[in-house]
Amino acid sequence: MTTCPTGIDIRNGLQMECIHCTQCIDACDDVMDKIGRPRGLIRYSSQAAIEGEKTRLLRPRVIVYPLILGLLLTVFVGALASKQAADVTFIRAAGGMPYFRAGEGEESRIGSRVRIRVRNRTDAQVTYSFALVDLPGAKINGLEDGLVVEPHKLGTAEVVVLVPPPAFGLQGRRTVTVRVEGSDGFGHNVSYSLIGPAWLGDRDADRDETESGEGPEGDD
Ligand code: SF4
Repeated sequence: MTTCPTGIDIRNGLQMECIHCTQCIDACDDVMDKIGRPRGLIRYSSQAAIEGEKTRLLRPRVIVYPLILGLLLTVFVGALASKQAADVTFIRAAGGMPYFRAGEGEESRIGSRVRIRVRNRTDAQVTYSFALVDLPGAKINGLEDGLVVEPHKLGTAEVVVLVPPPAFGLQGRRTVTVRVEGSDGFGHNVSYSLIGPAWLGDRDADRDETESGEGPEGDD
């Protein structure tokens, strides 16, 4: 009678077709019981144990493997727990100038076109609002009613971020923080780096006195 589901003869030694179902172990023990011989002729063992060497239960791999497994499990659970209800990405809008000037004098602003992408990971429709939190005189134009995103969908929109020229400093760069809030209670701060003209203090202020706005969005 053949008991092995893969059709191999384990008496010829361990073979790669073996799926470790242990049916041959049970069949062998049954036969040994019937003929009154000790069980375990076919068994799980090691070469050292078969050759009569003393086996150690506490070996390095017995300790290290569970530790690694526990660490991976912790990382996996941590990653799952920290998964947010939405993914928010800000990227520079394609095409056109990296920034434009809008307004004049004290009302002068540097405008940047920014594309917002929000992936709603919840099971409900969510409306997301966006607000600059750390820059007086700056604002976001274009999403006053918020961005509505269906469950498990990606919502995109293009906005204009208007920032007072002095905010760019001599480097011509400004990192702003945008507070994103969802109607489901989601809240997240996103940092975004804006490019603008270097601010040269009084010289630029004098120029603003005489320049007029030229951007596509106009002034607020
Ligand atoms: S454990 Fe035994 S019965 Fe199962 S596949 Fe391997 S050799 Fe065959």
